[in-house]
Amino acid sequence: MSFRTAACLAAALAAAACGHHPDDAGMVPIFDQVVFGSGNLDTPLGTVYRWERPVRVAARGKRKAGSMAGLERVLAEISGAAPLAIALTPTPQDAAADIIVFFEDGEAYLDYLSRRGARVNESRRAAIAAGYCWSITWTVGHEIDEAALFVGGGGTPAEAAKRLRQCLYHELAHAVGLAYHPSDAFSILNHESVTARFTRIDRVLLALLYSGSVSSGMKRADALRAAAKILPNLPRPKE
Ligand SMILES: [Zn+2]
Repeated sequence: MSFRTAACLAAALAAAACGHHPDDAGMVPIFDQVVFGSGNLDTPLGTVYRWERPVRVAARGKRKAGSMAGLERVLAEISGAAPLAIALTPTPQDAAADIIVFFEDGEAYLDYLSRRGARVNESRRAAIAAGYCWSITWTVGHEIDEAALFVGGGGTPAEAAKRLRQCLYHELAHAVGLAYHPSDAFSILNHESVTARFTRIDRVLLALLYSGSVSSGMKRADALRAAAKILPNLPRPKE
């Protein structure tokens, strides 16, 4: 089992939006960046990592009504766009949960990571103490097998509501396999985009990753070719 981690700066002030809509040719490089890390790593991932089974999500920590409604909405949007069977379990301690979301309970999150064998260094502790959102994903073979998310709190009610949405969309996108950040795309995964929800690009990325023509373990080059072939046939969702 291995894991990878994504530091997320959803709390940071967004600087600027880049609102262009790439055509199909422009989507494949974004897919390459977000799924394989081609824009961020010297050596991008060589294969597809995604879920290959229904995903059960448990919520722990401060389960406020607004937080839970927000979580359910994001899961429904992922289900609709991917398509991937992903749904909330009513039991916070559900032993069969695949993804656990820790709302505003950094200690419980760090404790969980420690018990699962993930490295918890001082910079991560400090980021979580400061309320930054975070996620970590475990894989077995080429399948995503488990994920744990931290959603911070704080700020004014309006700020907290926006940050909650940004964190849930951003971290859950990571948890289902959109692992990296695009450098120049209007996406919830772009730290420079002022958006607090999925954009058309995010929905297209989910549709490509969970297309029947793509599977976990597929080689990067084959997946990029498949993505280029699928794109013209995807439904055109509104922005
Ligand atoms: Zn991130």
